[in-house]
Amino acid sequence: MALNYSSKINKIRTFALSLVFIGFGVMYLGILTKKIEWLMAIFFILGLLCIVFSTVVYFWIGMLSTRARQIICPTCNKPTKILGRVDACMHCKQPLTIDKNLEGKEFDEKYNSKEYRKQIKNQNQTNDSN
Ligand SMILES: [Zn+2]
Repeated sequence: MALNYSSKINKIRTFALSLVFIGFGVMYLGILTKKIEWLMAIFFILGLLCIVFSTVVYFWIGMLSTRARQIICPTCNKPTKILGRVDACMHCKQPLTIDKNLEGKEFDEKYNSKEYRKQIKNQNQTNDSN
């Protein structure tokens, strides 16, 4: 059964890509409102900020990728990257762990529960901020 969980790197990449589109969308709004100069300027600046921010995020993904552990996914045999203790395969969304304590717990009901996953997520977030 596929978990509603995708690879962290993929998630960030999707976020950065959507930022580019939002940026262009906002700049397009600027073109539509070119009769009102100050509004056009605001839309252009906002759009530009979105695009600049997305390049920062892309740069950040590059940094994360070099830090992530590369492994061969046991399910689809493709190389994938793991961020933190628990992550999903970038290709088949197979949940993967590098923590021996969590190994074999995959089919534990507790592990599949939202509460438990939230707990792991929180742990990862505190790990990421370190
Ligand atoms: Zn896989």
